[in-house]
Amino acid sequence: MNTKIDKLLDKIKETAFSIKKDINLMEVCGTHTQAVARHGLKRLMPKNVHLTTGPGCPVCVTAQEDIDAIISLALAGIPVATYGDMLRVPGFFGSLDEARSKGAKVFDVYSTEDALALQKNYPDLVFFGLGFETTTPMTAYAIKKGLMVYSTHKLFLPAMSALLEMGELKIDGFLSPGHVSAVIGVEPYKEMKVSQVIAGFTAEDVLAAIYMLLKQIKDGRREVENEYLRAVKEKGNPAARKEIFDVFGIEDGNWRGFGIIPKSGLEIKKKYKDQDAKIKYKKIIENSKIQKLKDLRMKDMCRCGEIIRGLKNPKDCPMFKKACTPEKPFGPCMVSMEGACNVEYRYEK
Ligand code: SF4
Repeated sequence: MNTKIDKLLDKIKETAFSIKKDINLMEVCGTHTQAVARHGLKRLMPKNVHLTTGPGCPVCVTAQEDIDAIISLALAGIPVATYGDMLRVPGFFGSLDEARSKGAKVFDVYSTEDALALQKNYPDLVFFGLGFETTTPMTAYAIKKGLMVYSTHKLFLPAMSALLEMGELKIDGFLSPGHVSAVIGVEPYKEMKVSQVIAGFTAEDVLAAIYMLLKQIKDGRREVENEYLRAVKEKGNPAARKEIFDVFGIEDGNWRGFGIIPKSGLEIKKKYKDQDAKIKYKKIIENSKIQKLKDLRMKDMCRCGEIIRGLKNPKDCPMFKKACTPEKPFGPCMVSMEGACNVEYRYEK
């Protein structure tokens, strides 16, 4: 018996009972999504506490237009490298994996260092950069070292603000992302008038953060607290932020499930424009059928966009576990190990 866990669960039950209304808490980090599922935390919550998944999976929130664009580059003969999960995300004319089976030079890498190593053999290599403040410093470093990049990097906080502004789901509190916060620190969250707790990734971390959120809600406080003190400092990691903003400028960002979120995208600065694949291969991207046609099939049937915004659960999708499985994913939420559909598929039992 884990007495710390039991004590936290008792405190959660006691506090939730005293609140006497339904409480929606959203986790906005893919690793939290996994932790909640792996430890079966949803089932341990009192009846009035609902845990919802938000837009924390970088693969899932990458816009279909960007996926189609990188596939168009691969099909045009340009070598492409990216992180493994992204290879299987379906685009209009198949995935990067399928492009590889047709002869395109597509490589999965674990890091931008791997991509830089590949570039020695493939000088035209394009790295498909994705993710939030956590992965962007590595891409920025690699650009400084000469890597050509198609950037879909994003800032995370604008998506949280967008969720609040859209108001589709009443969010009483955010379980805020530990990894992103290690870079950005605590300060930036203070602009959002909602209860927030930055959390680590063990079951104990997540439960402690849920308890802290419930206490805030009970007391009527809308603050940001830091449960993940061992990794997240008040001012974050200034060196990592400098690396990001040396290379990237803030622009509007295109998110699956949201569309354009103002000032949420990270685009390569003019200083490095020769390494910006969106500029170098503009014609291919614009002229490709993939880019023109967009992905009507995904738009019509996959519910990933609503799942990312916390409006639907994977089981609400008629294709879940039928037409769509981790072996044969139909949408990005089933591809990534951090995607809500993939996590639900693996841990539902
Ligand atoms: Fe999309 Fe598949 Fe999830 Fe349905 S089960 S929402 S098709 S990823």
